Amino acid sequence: MNAPAISALHEEVRALAQERGAVILAHNYQVPEVQDVADFVGDSLGLSREAAATDAAAIAFCGVHFMAETAAILSPEKTVLIPDLDAGCSLAASITAEQLRDWKAQHPGAVVVSYVNTTAEVKAETDYCCTSGNARAVIEAIPEDQEILFLPDLFLGLWLERVTGRKLRIWMGECHVHAGIRPADIERWENEPDAELLVHPECGCASQAMAFGNGRTHILSTEKMIDFAKSSPKERFLIATEVGILHRLQKEAPEKRFEPVSERAICRYMKMITLEKLRDSLRDWKHVVTVPPETAARARQAIERMVAIA
Ligand code: SF4
Repeated sequence: MNAPAISALHEEVRALAQERGAVILAHNYQVPEVQDVADFVGDSLGLSREAAATDAAAIAFCGVHFMAETAAILSPEKTVLIPDLDAGCSLAASITAEQLRDWKAQHPGAVVVSYVNTTAEVKAETDYCCTSGNARAVIEAIPEDQEILFLPDLFLGLWLERVTGRKLRIWMGECHVHAGIRPADIERWENEPDAELLVHPECGCASQAMAFGNGRTHILSTEKMIDFAKSSPKERFLIATEVGILHRLQKEAPEKRFEPVSERAICRYMKMITLEKLRDSLRDWKHVVTVPPETAARARQAIERMVAIA
């Protein structure tokens, strides 16, 4: 799409959002033209906080389905729209509520900590939700002698064990995008002393990156990557997460250089959301995301704990 076409769609989307009383929220992994029309762009935690705080009547959620569900749980009185119902998440799909119930039955009394990338049914079986931005704080808020079941991301779980020194029982799920960033993808960086390496803890390369221990490696959530790049005196950064974050990094720190460690790190679910689908969603009031009240009530407590822990 060329610049005039994007600009015309931006105008159309903004007019519809105003007419419908909707706020547009977009995840950091959305395509640039969707990020640019949003009222707020952020990671899962930031978007959840925004969804809970907004006084708009509706939320057009440009992200994947579990995120829109989270917004619907936090704001049951608002209409939550997702522009494409097929925008799922391979990580969220790696555990079902039934599998979690079976796991809990094997470990009675254990506390369940779920990464926010889970379905509403799984959240309803969860004690604490977390994002990569506050996962460490959530684990550290739980008494040391308490057994913890952590799900669904294997790499984030392993990283948490390292930084907290706690032993966790970890579900063997993974995100196809982050697991696809392999140790070999970051090897070239070792020979580039002027570049800082920013790694998302879901990445398959996170363990190797931590092992470097050379002061130039930083394991960060996407939101913290942005804070870090803005405040760092360094000018060049290699980024190990989904490539959509590059747009926001470049926008927020235009004087710096950002490069992905892997051009293949693209989430096809995030990329299902387009400006045209967002326009259609606001115009035709589709697709409304709802969560059954009973499930929502059980899931809400775990999500509210996540939103409350910094
Ligand atoms: S990048 Fe991975 S974890 Fe994030 S939405 Fe896509 S599949 Fe899910």
